[in-house]
Amino acid sequence: MRPFDYEIQPIPLTTVKITDNFWKYRIETNRKVTIPYALKKCEETHRIDNFSKAGGLIDDDIKPINTYDDSDVFKIIEGAAYSLSVKPDPQLEKYLDEIIRKIAAAQEEDGYLFTMRTITPKKLHLFAGRKRWKKVASTSHELYNMGHLYESAVAYYQATGKRVLLDVAIRNVELIENVFGSGKNESAPGHQEIEIGLIRLYRTLGDEKYLNLAKFFLDIRGPNGIDYNQSHKKVIEQDEAVGHAVRATYMYSAMTDIAALTNNKDYNKAIDRLWDNVVSKKLSITGGIGSKPHPFEAFGNNYELPNMVTYNETCAAIGNVYWNHRLFLLYGDGKYFDVIERTLFNGLLSGISLDGKTFFYPNPLASKGQYSRSPWFDTACCPSNLTRFMASIPSYIYAQKDDTLYVNLFIGSATTVSIDEKPVVITQETDYPWKGNVKIVINVQESRDFTIAIRIPCWTQNRPVPSDLYHYLNESTEEVTLKINNKSIDFSNEKGFACIQRTWSDEDTIEFNMPMPIRRVVAHEKVKNNLGRVALERGPIVYCVEGIDNKVDHVFNLFLDDADNLTSVYHKDILNGIVVITGAIHYIKNSENDKIEKDFLAIPYYAWAHRGKGEMTVWLIRDLESYKSSKLASK
Ligand SMILES: [Zn+2]
Repeated sequence: MRPFDYEIQPIPLTTVKITDNFWKYRIETNRKVTIPYALKKCEETHRIDNFSKAGGLIDDDIKPINTYDDSDVFKIIEGAAYSLSVKPDPQLEKYLDEIIRKIAAAQEEDGYLFTMRTITPKKLHLFAGRKRWKKVASTSHELYNMGHLYESAVAYYQATGKRVLLDVAIRNVELIENVFGSGKNESAPGHQEIEIGLIRLYRTLGDEKYLNLAKFFLDIRGPNGIDYNQSHKKVIEQDEAVGHAVRATYMYSAMTDIAALTNNKDYNKAIDRLWDNVVSKKLSITGGIGSKPHPFEAFGNNYELPNMVTYNETCAAIGNVYWNHRLFLLYGDGKYFDVIERTLFNGLLSGISLDGKTFFYPNPLASKGQYSRSPWFDTACCPSNLTRFMASIPSYIYAQKDDTLYVNLFIGSATTVSIDEKPVVITQETDYPWKGNVKIVINVQESRDFTIAIRIPCWTQNRPVPSDLYHYLNESTEEVTLKINNKSIDFSNEKGFACIQRTWSDEDTIEFNMPMPIRRVVAHEKVKNNLGRVALERGPIVYCVEGIDNKVDHVFNLFLDDADNLTSVYHKDILNGIVVITGAIHYIKNSENDKIEKDFLAIPYYAWAHRGKGEMTVWLIRDLESYKSSKLASK
């Protein structure tokens, strides 16, 4: 038993069975299509051969292109491990064993693992540095790769019980411990990730040396580094999210782990400040973060949230979910799941196509047709990250603290939890995100007392996000309702949850109903790019308009007057089945005086760019005066 830890624990994915109409298809596509596809891409691009070559198993003339190529293989193994843990696949497992054999062969005698240096120690990529660790604080990714190795090693060990990769990880840590530490090499990793990996090793193996090393790598950051990789200040003194957003969220995730595992209040205070800053000043309406393409993939200034040029890397969305999940486990507040849900259904899911084979690296909020989904990237962090994230989705749905069971996400599923050492089966049925009614059935062998905490999304409480960064134009008066065994009950909102404490009997049924009117959202007035603009939401879904559905010259000239009537309707044949928003709105033809009525159709943002290249925008013109006064309107 660890002295300190998260008081709330997630219900692991191995005990959650997904039956959901929306997510089951996506998770199955990840298992059947994306994971094999990504592994094939790693073969084609020699990412796997690089291990064989470094291990002396083949003699081909190859070497990694990027210093971080090894990490993609580790991430896909992690995703495949989650997939194996819910659905055994002997053929896939055999193939992974073979890759792991190559990885083990590539490890040098003293535990070092970095195929680029092992293959060509003399002719190295500029980013790698001439000697080991020389560029560890900037571009070599030597420690970043190892963080992903540790995570995949733990996942594969937990899925299969096989230790080969875990032993590779343990041997590597022994080397890292010899090299790094107080009074030894005190370089801060240039791209954070090893911290998360070490903490996972600590959780799995129990040895505090992993935890201490993770904390060391956090504590040595700052104050004389650069904000691009968050080494500009001591981590506990940071108060604004700056720099590369993936590096940032991985670091904030590790900091949250440290806050929980060491009961370190300085860490709590820092992550609280950073979260407030992101959610109130740096979060796109899609949940995307890291709005600046230059410097690469970084947070913008406060309220700097452009649309066309926004970056919002898929990996940053994933990192944002990792971080907010940990914050929920630490504090038990539903507001963190409000951020997760917004990200998950919008700016993260947009990163992968419906067929699971094409990807977005940036996830912009407007396009003139210059963006399209890509089958792969030289820097393949996003596809490989998606394989592991999509496979892990079941682990976000439920959580438990003593005799309280949390229902965090509305995803059709069933799970068995142990409360007071007796099993409780909980089954969730829903057509979310298209319908807001959720049916939860409890099965117990004998009646007993416990609490079910159902998340009340902030969008049902007239708040799009848990900050003042966005607000709805009109208050909705439709209220969330809750029935137990067909009888309406009153409930209070405790930190974003309807907590129902009672004696539960077998077959007790909860009906939780969240009305889903179409909502119009406007951004904080300091977000200059969205002055005079409005976006549409329904339930957890953010909408966009695409050229293909709207016969106009430019979707950017669509004008949604506050008085225009909108309706929503489910179309089972479009984009795997979606609710679209339609209505007669307006279109600005030549000048603002030349406004005509126009039918329009909006689709969920996550589903854009599936039907060829074309224009897209999330934000529509609402108010001409403020729109014109904003010079940044089209950016
Ligand atoms: Zn990425």
